Amino acid sequence: MDALLLKEYMKLEMVRMAEPEIGLEDVLVRVRACGICGSDVHGLDGSTGRRIPPIVMGHEAAGEVVETGAAVRDLKAGDRVTFDSTIYCGRCFYCTRGDINLCDNRQVLGVSPGEYRRHGAFAEFVAVPRRIIYRLPDQLSFEQAAMIEAASVAVHAVNLTPFPLGASAVVVGTGMIGLLAVQALRAAGCARVVAVDLEESRLESARKLGATETIAASQVNVPGAVRELTDGLGADVAVECVGAKPSVETAIASVRKGGMVTLVGNVSPTADLPLQAVVTRQIRLQGSCASSGEYPAVIALLAAGTIRVDSLISAVAPLGEGPAWFARLYRREPGLMKVILRP
Ligand SMILES: [Zn+2]
Ligand SMILES: [Zn+2]
Repeated sequence: MDALLLKEYMKLEMVRMAEPEIGLEDVLVRVRACGICGSDVHGLDGSTGRRIPPIVMGHEAAGEVVETGAAVRDLKAGDRVTFDSTIYCGRCFYCTRGDINLCDNRQVLGVSPGEYRRHGAFAEFVAVPRRIIYRLPDQLSFEQAAMIEAASVAVHAVNLTPFPLGASAVVVGTGMIGLLAVQALRAAGCARVVAVDLEESRLESARKLGATETIAASQVNVPGAVRELTDGLGADVAVECVGAKPSVETAIASVRKGGMVTLVGNVSPTADLPLQAVVTRQIRLQGSCASSGEYPAVIALLAAGTIRVDSLISAVAPLGEGPAWFARLYRREPGLMKVILRP
C-alpha cells in the first residue's frame, strides 16, 4: 500500500509498505480522509519525542471497513467508520472506571514514543481494534468525520466543566479546539460565550460559529472587558485552549469568584500560577485530556449541524501532497487550520 512515512526527522516520504495485518479483534480500514494534527506537525522535528521514525503518523481519520478479524461480528466490508485516536486496554484501574483517556496502557495511533510503535492513518489502510471504531451516519462526509477527534476534545472539556443553563463562558484561544469549544459551550446551554484571541480573523470565525462577544487580547484588558459584560462579576467558567502563561492568567482572571477554569491547551509544559488569586477567589482548575467516550455524542452533534466543522477545514489534498502540506504547516503559514489528506 501507499503510505506517508516519517523516515527520519524532517523527512516525510511516500513509500510502498506491506498492508497491516489484523488480529482477531481488529478491523482493517481503507482510509478515506485523515487530518494533520498539530501534534503530527510538531512530531516532524522530534521536539516532542513522540514520533520516533520510522513512523506513519495520522490519528484523525475516517474510512471504510475492508476486512474484520474473526471475533468481530458487527461490522462488515463497506461500512463507513471513524475511530478514536486512543487505543485503551479495557482492563486497568482507569478503563474499568470508564476513564479510557487515562488508561495506564494507552497507545495512540500514529505515535512511536519508544515503548511502542503504532502506525497511523496517513496510508491506504490502517488496522485498529474493533472497540475504538464508530459507525458514521450517511450525512457525514469522510472529511467531516476526520474532524470528530478534534471536536471530541472540545466536547470532553465542556463535559468536565459544570455550569447551569444560561451561564457565561470565556474561551481563551480560538484556534481549532477553541472554535469547537465555543460551539460545544453554546450547545451545552451557555447563554454567553466570549471568545478571546490575538488574531482578528479567528475572532471573526468565532462570531460566525456562535460566540456572542469577542475580545481582541492585543488591544484590551481581557478580564476587565469580561467583567463589563457580566455585571462586574466575571464569567462563570473559562476554557483555556492555548496553554501558556499569559493565556492561563487571562482565563483565571476572567472568571468570577467560585468560577472554574478548564485547561485544555499545553503549548508550554509549565506556566506560573497566580496562586493567591486562585485560592482567595476560590477558583477551580480542571485539566482535560483527549476524550473519554464522547465519540457517539460528537457524531450526533455533527450530523445534526449543532457543531459545524466545514469552515475549519482549510484544504483537502491527496496523500501524495502530504510532505508539501506538512512543510506549510510547519512554517506556520497564516490562515491554515485543518488540512485533510486523502489516500
Ligand atoms: Zn490530534
Ligand atoms: Zn486501560
